[in-house]
Amino acid sequence: MSLAESTKQENAKTKSGVKGGLSLKGEARPFVNSFVEHLVHRNIITEEIALQVSAVKQTTNGKRNKSLVETIADDFKIPREALYDEVAQFYSFRLIDIHDRNARRLQPSSVNKLLSGLPESAYRLALKYKVLPFEVADNQPDKLLIVTPYPSEREIHEVGRSFPYKKFEVCYMKEKDWAELWRQVTLDKQQVAGGGATADDTYEENEAELDSVLDREINRSQLIALVENVFADAVRVGASDVHIIPRGARKTTISFRIDGDLTEWYTIEDARAEAVIAVVKGSGLNLDRFERMAAQDGAAQKIVDNQIIRFRISVLPILSRELGGKFESVVIRILKDADASVSLETIGFDEYSLGMFREAISQPHGMIILTGPTGCGKSTTLVAALRAVMNPTMNTISVEDPVEYLIEGARQVKLNHKLSFEDALRAILRHDPDVVMVGEIRDRITADIAIKLANTGHLAFSTLHTNDAPSAVSRLFKIGVEPFLMAQAMNIVVAQRLVRKLCDRCKAPAQKPNDVFLAKVGFTQEEAESLASYRAVGCANCIGGFKGRKAIHETLFFTPEIRDIILDSGDRIDTNVIRASAIRHGMQTLRRSGLELVKKGITTIEEIVANTANG
Ligand SMILES: [Zn+2]
Repeated sequence: MSLAESTKQENAKTKSGVKGGLSLKGEARPFVNSFVEHLVHRNIITEEIALQVSAVKQTTNGKRNKSLVETIADDFKIPREALYDEVAQFYSFRLIDIHDRNARRLQPSSVNKLLSGLPESAYRLALKYKVLPFEVADNQPDKLLIVTPYPSEREIHEVGRSFPYKKFEVCYMKEKDWAELWRQVTLDKQQVAGGGATADDTYEENEAELDSVLDREINRSQLIALVENVFADAVRVGASDVHIIPRGARKTTISFRIDGDLTEWYTIEDARAEAVIAVVKGSGLNLDRFERMAAQDGAAQKIVDNQIIRFRISVLPILSRELGGKFESVVIRILKDADASVSLETIGFDEYSLGMFREAISQPHGMIILTGPTGCGKSTTLVAALRAVMNPTMNTISVEDPVEYLIEGARQVKLNHKLSFEDALRAILRHDPDVVMVGEIRDRITADIAIKLANTGHLAFSTLHTNDAPSAVSRLFKIGVEPFLMAQAMNIVVAQRLVRKLCDRCKAPAQKPNDVFLAKVGFTQEEAESLASYRAVGCANCIGGFKGRKAIHETLFFTPEIRDIILDSGDRIDTNVIRASAIRHGMQTLRRSGLELVKKGITTIEEIVANTANG
């Protein structure tokens, strides 16, 4: 049954109205149905694609699992939202905007209750097709409106029929609105039942007995489904890490790191902590469920919303108050394929930094260093930089431990117990590279290899952990790199930080701090006088008044003057002299970049003071 047939009766009127738009002068209809005609008419797809779609559709009629719309989206790379916008219009699906129907909306707790009441198969379909109950129809208490970004998918009807309402209507919600609704619903999920486990707090002395007790508990509860949900939830809310921490014999908290902050997500109180951890370990590779004394590193790969997501799992034994409890803390890092939308333009460089960075990476050779603490977004910026220089005529090789992002077009060396970081670096020297990314300069060996690459005609990208850009020079000097080699090799050092952005919906004007404080922070007198800063408040749209983060930069471009300063330094690198010279040539310090964001009302003074030094 084609998509058009499935909704023919209800929408006959709309369709015939549109059909007249494309004149076919009595010829045989070339397209598989009038919706495809409509897409051509609306310039969503070309006539050529329409013919191809129709051909595919006709030759495999009846055998195809994917719907017509999904086929067009996948095979012809047409943006889904554009297609489903047309679907909604063409087949008269009601469009629901999350913001203008607050009054009659179901509470998140009711939505959760309806979802958890679904039979398992319907629940899985609801997740797959992103179906959420939204509201009870006006004047029709027996009719439920459900929302989804993919309203024409047939299986949604099975979900709709499974809710305890007599009637349902499938409504269209745009992907972005849906994500917000989903987030609100998930945030409400403070307590998740582990299932029918009964209280059983006695610990067996015997390991084998403990394992069989845990097995029984895992089978009795829905822990496996719950843990799978945690993986999916984390990906959907854009968390970077998941922390699973035993708090007591029967209490495990699950927290997500979102925009840099840990936020408690679930508390599991009716399953043993060891059982939860055992399930998490069981969901990964290279993890020994029965080993509870050693640190372990594992990996997992899951499909979330049709995307393959990789996870890195770290397990550490921790002390517990419970006698006999063998507790372990688990942290799961979510590894993303480099986001295709990340580019130098979207990193958030100020004008000077962007110009200098482009200049630095357009050189045929030299070093580009990103510096800052863990979690400052260095890797994302590196990926954007690599993307900007990579092309198919170049050999781009990266050695990272661990690999943070998969970068299409680059050869990313896979490290293992037979191939160490240092060995891999030595090997790539002989692997005819053009562009090299060295995950991190850790010591003399890695520094020497990176510098050697840069001084022998390659572009070399790497990272360091220093507080600001000039300190990268003194750090390299301290680990033993000769100043003349640095002066020759380096193109640019960029220090980066991520600061939290105020939520636009709830931020409020802040009381103005006194002038002494503002001067101490780094504002000029003129700036202090005209300053109108904001403070964090907090609403349903954000976490604690903040939503998302923005990068700030300190960009040390290696001008001839900087190179001379480094060449002339004897046995001590003076970072103050380097900084002063760079500022004269246009560099903004991290603090200064941050203050500019405060002036624009993007973040708070406190956020900048906490994340940058006054330099
Ligand atoms: Zn807010």
